[in-house]
Amino acid sequence: MNDKINKIIQLLNQEYGEKKWKKRYAPLDQLIQTILSQNTNDKNSNAAFSNLKRKYPTWERLLEASENDIAETIRLGGLANIKAKRIKEAIFAIKEERPELDLTYLKKLPQEEALSFLTALKGVGPKTAACVLLFSFGKPVLPVDTHIHRVSKRISLIGNVDRLKAHEILQQMVPEEQIYSFHINMIEHGRRICKTKPKCPDCVLNLICESATYFYPEIKILKTKK
Ligand code: SF4
Repeated sequence: MNDKINKIIQLLNQEYGEKKWKKRYAPLDQLIQTILSQNTNDKNSNAAFSNLKRKYPTWERLLEASENDIAETIRLGGLANIKAKRIKEAIFAIKEERPELDLTYLKKLPQEEALSFLTALKGVGPKTAACVLLFSFGKPVLPVDTHIHRVSKRISLIGNVDRLKAHEILQQMVPEEQIYSFHINMIEHGRRICKTKPKCPDCVLNLICESATYFYPEIKILKTKK
């Protein structure tokens, strides 16, 4: 499997460029941004996050707001009532532990401890927690979203397992120094090429992907010629 994952990483890096980690948001901002990104696209979640930051310049201010007001502010990000409740509850729980509302200390914790702290927050699952550690600190934790899950199954990196199990398997499989690039490029690949209806003839992985001939039997001929 080592050869296969390395080949996939190499092909994706060639196709989309190797991504180097750069910090996006402070960890608490990243947590809120990731909660907002659940079940919606980047454009809407980014707009909802900007609205939220504009209306509540500090997270303390948000704690004083009603869930209804928060929901109105993030309405275009979808599932506004649920997300407003999750965000407020998460910030409230963090304030109980860290009154200064700063999660920078997570950087120094062992990875498992940092993940445990985050996933203990209501509404924060392994993917959201991994996003905080990967994007804010560059820790080698691999968030597995719906695109990475789908593409990994199709190229047989994983079997027919759920996302949690997929995270465990891929976390062990992808070399640490490539986790960031792999994460970004697999999502891009899932959005552009390996969509629900995959575009296998245009796919840079089609010669090593077992599903290519299932979706497009004519690809078999190319594979035989190779
Ligand atoms: S060959 Fe098809 S199924 Fe396989 S990764 Fe590419 S687009 Fe997805």
